[in-house]
Amino acid sequence: MVDSAKPQASTWCPGCGDFGVLSSVKKAAAEVGIPPHQLVLVGGIGCSGGIHNFLEINGLHALHGRLLPQAIGVKLANPKLTVIAAGGDGDGYAIGMGHFMHAFKKNASILYIVMNNETYGLTKGQASPTSQLGFEGNVEAPFDAILTALSIPVQNYLARTFSGDPKMMTQVLVEALKFNRDGKGFAFIEDLSPCVTYNDTFKDWRARVQDVSKLPGYDPSDRIKMFELCRSTMREGKIPIGVMHRPKADGISLEALELKLMPDHLGPVDSDLSVATNRAAYQKLLQLSA
Ligand code: SF4
Repeated sequence: MVDSAKPQASTWCPGCGDFGVLSSVKKAAAEVGIPPHQLVLVGGIGCSGGIHNFLEINGLHALHGRLLPQAIGVKLANPKLTVIAAGGDGDGYAIGMGHFMHAFKKNASILYIVMNNETYGLTKGQASPTSQLGFEGNVEAPFDAILTALSIPVQNYLARTFSGDPKMMTQVLVEALKFNRDGKGFAFIEDLSPCVTYNDTFKDWRARVQDVSKLPGYDPSDRIKMFELCRSTMREGKIPIGVMHRPKADGISLEALELKLMPDHLGPVDSDLSVATNRAAYQKLLQLSA
């Protein structure tokens, strides 16, 4: 349900990496100047997905793995809203993986934050899609969301941050929210957010994160070069963080296509969104976004 109740006290464990995201979201929204009533946060299932409960904004708790279609729906219903989807690696990269891939293709101007702790924290520390080999008996190679996202040729904004570096995280969030507010399309940030209770990686990750913008050859407008830069960084045992893609040219966002086809669409209060009324426009929209 969407609500704008007063924020609740956090239920996260003291020291959880998700606190870094909570704090940076507050700072970034204030810096960009987004009024709380214009901000909707759609949370996934898992510890991190409860983040909207701890903010004084509009919040919606999505079904497991389904936060992206719900966040895109909110954006299309009222493109004037700033919409953030936020959840964990289990929610986003396991049950939600199909929606993850398609969100890049759809290119609605929403921000998706995945708090990656390489485990299912809420259910007491089982292996997740990003877990390292051997963690809790894991026999699968860890999934890398940034490398995957770099292989999808759409004009998106991509970054990876670390909860131990809140300054970088706030800067990246400000840039991503402005990208969305300018209607340039989908923005994705994976935050390395350690679960201090079931998989405390803070010390290890702090020693291994590498800001790719400091490396020779850094060019966030070139996906292929960035993929190679990330791979070479990983081969040295480091974890690449920073802005991974910042498109030179603007793409076409899903809500811009919608507004082009339905110029009178101003939001759910003053629009008739029924299929019967809009069948021709919906069919045209589906053809253009295919
Ligand atoms: Fe954070 Fe882990 Fe505690 Fe969940 S179980 S709140 S992810 S530290």
